[in-house]
Amino acid sequence: MPLTLEGGCRCGAVSFSVESHAPQPYQLCYCSICRKTAGAGGFAINLSTVASTLKIKGKRSIGVYRAEIERNGRCEISSGERNFCRKCGTALWLYDPTWPELVHPFASAIDTPLPAPPERVHLMLKFKPDWVEPDFGPRDARFEEYPEESIEDWHKSRGLWVD
Ligand SMILES: [Zn+2]
Repeated sequence: MPLTLEGGCRCGAVSFSVESHAPQPYQLCYCSICRKTAGAGGFAINLSTVASTLKIKGKRSIGVYRAEIERNGRCEISSGERNFCRKCGTALWLYDPTWPELVHPFASAIDTPLPAPPERVHLMLKFKPDWVEPDFGPRDARFEEYPEESIEDWHKSRGLWVD
């Protein structure tokens, strides 16, 4: 049975539940979008959940932000849709229609107790400002950009996938 994650914003206008086979909050993203919108400690933690199981209360209070990204000197609009509460500003989840079967809630918006990951992945480190000093554990992996392993593969290869 997948784990049901309950979450929501700080003010209570938006709450949601969603099922996850991959609930380890192990993936710390230091990109400037995650840092500015969801991670004042320098990073945001993205979870992987099943989009078809997402149930939302308070949809009217949700705003969607699509970041502008400079790539090869051109400005592109990210396909990633960052959903947030328009009343209190809480970052809720990222949905990208490129991978329509997944939704990525921010661990910070989840109220259900999450497991403590045995090791972590630090990604997008090249976008980290100097003041952020990552807390690298002895088994942690580091990536300047994206890791090779998907969240699903990471869980499966460590026996942490929840069927
Ligand atoms: Zn709110």
